[in-house]
Amino acid sequence: MQLRYRVLVILLFSITSLVCAQQKKLPNIVILATGGTIAGAAESGTSAGYTSGQVGVQTMIDAVPGIKDIANVTGEQIANVGSQDMSIKIWLDLAHKINELLATDAVDGIVITHGTDTQEETAYFLNLVVKSDKPVVTTGSMRPSTAVSAEGPLNLYNAVAVAANKKAKGRGVMIVMNDQIHSPQAATKTNTTSVQTFLSPMQGMLGAVLYGQLEFYRMPHNIHTTKSEFSVKGVKELPRVDVIFGAADMNPDLIDLSVKAGAKGIVIAGVGNGNMNAASLEACKKAIDKGIVVVRSTRVPTGYVLRNGEVNDDKYGTIASDELNAQKSRVLLMLALMKKHTAAEIQEIFYNY
Ligand code: GLU
Repeated sequence: MQLRYRVLVILLFSITSLVCAQQKKLPNIVILATGGTIAGAAESGTSAGYTSGQVGVQTMIDAVPGIKDIANVTGEQIANVGSQDMSIKIWLDLAHKINELLATDAVDGIVITHGTDTQEETAYFLNLVVKSDKPVVTTGSMRPSTAVSAEGPLNLYNAVAVAANKKAKGRGVMIVMNDQIHSPQAATKTNTTSVQTFLSPMQGMLGAVLYGQLEFYRMPHNIHTTKSEFSVKGVKELPRVDVIFGAADMNPDLIDLSVKAGAKGIVIAGVGNGNMNAASLEACKKAIDKGIVVVRSTRVPTGYVLRNGEVNDDKYGTIASDELNAQKSRVLLMLALMKKHTAAEIQEIFYNY
């Protein structure tokens, strides 16, 4: 072989090996799909009406140009529902699956596609029961996959970029939507239709991700994942906890009914600083005397619910939710109720998580 051909062959061989090595080095990310608007389809690109959970995980992955350049991506369909139909069973399936996958060296991170309606609850639940410091990211979209300017593909690309990034390790479960990275403990859905819906009003976002380039601003400050005391290993169901919405002149009957129906815990989305009228407070006291745990959260979008604010928690035996909104207080209380705790211990749990 002539020298120049030999050089060419060696060059080609080196380039191919380099490309292969490069490919091998990409992190392995598993996408667990659960449905939501990101997998939704409408009759036209501008139709307001659509059905969540129509598109399968592989179709979603195929719709994201460049995703295979940032990670070795595989998909698995866990469910395909609008997240208004997210269930405790699916939460447990997800937790078991994630713990199993992340325990192996073959998986470096997880992305969960999910509707936005209850995404903060799923992400917060997983933040408390995933036993790994590898990145776990939830994402979704506000516009269905068939919409003009559907934002799902970019959200999915960014979510994979975060899950694949070493800097994301040890930050717990994260919500990645609209270029922002949030901790589920701090984040909440704030707008019914806008693509800018998740905010962390009290703490601010964890970081930002722009076309896969990311920057973290802070660590989550509450206990999560590997440090969390909660485990759902072998667990098939969670104790029933109901949320009751506070309002002027609210009727205490719903509290009594919840007790009768077998709730082990009740979260009041109270007015203001977790307040409720006198009749409701008395109904809560009756429930507490029967061994039901009552948490005072709030219907107000921002701020803390302070222990012994206008309600004397020491006297009534109620728990103040601190910074958790009602829907996430329910998640934490369900997990706390898996073990016997005193009211003081549950209060401590609400301060720590
Ligand atoms: N109901 C839908 C869901 O949560 C709408 C929200 C969304 O995914 O954006 O699945």
